[in-house]
Amino acid sequence: MTPTRAPSARRARDIGLDVRAPKARCDDRHCPFHGHLPVRGQVLEGTVVSTAMQRTAVVERTLLHYVAKFERYEKRRRRYLAHAPPCLNVPVGHRVRIAETRPLSKLVSFCIVEDLGEAARRVRGEEAVVPTEAPEASKEAPA
Ligand SMILES: [Zn+2]
Repeated sequence: MTPTRAPSARRARDIGLDVRAPKARCDDRHCPFHGHLPVRGQVLEGTVVSTAMQRTAVVERTLLHYVAKFERYEKRRRRYLAHAPPCLNVPVGHRVRIAETRPLSKLVSFCIVEDLGEAARRVRGEEAVVPTEAPEASKEAPA
C-alpha cells in the first residue's frame, strides 16, 4: 500500500504550467493547487482591477489591434472574470497570469495561477492601473 501523507503535509499540486506554486495553503476546492480544478487551454496575462467579489477577480488585458486603413494601432481592452484562490491573495493592481478552466459559473472560466507582482513595469500599450484610494498629493499647487 502506498504511504498516505496527511493533508497538512501535502504540497501544492503540479498544475502542468510553469508557474510558481503559492506559499500559502487553502482549502478551496476550486484552487488548481490545493483543490481539484484542472486548468487547460489558454494562459493569459493581465492586471487585477477589482477584487470586490468573493474569490473572484476582474482581470483586464490591453491589446493593440492594427487598423489597416489608418496604418495605426488602436487600444482594445478585454476583461475576464477569474477565480482567485485564497492562497494567492492577489491585491488590486497586480499583474497576474490566468489560465482557462472549465466554466466555474456563468461568467467565470479562468483562474488566477500566478501573481506577477505589482504592475510597475508598463507593458506596451497598457495603462497603469490607478489605485482606487483618493490621491492626496495631486491636489497641491492649483494654477
Ligand atoms: Zn490554494
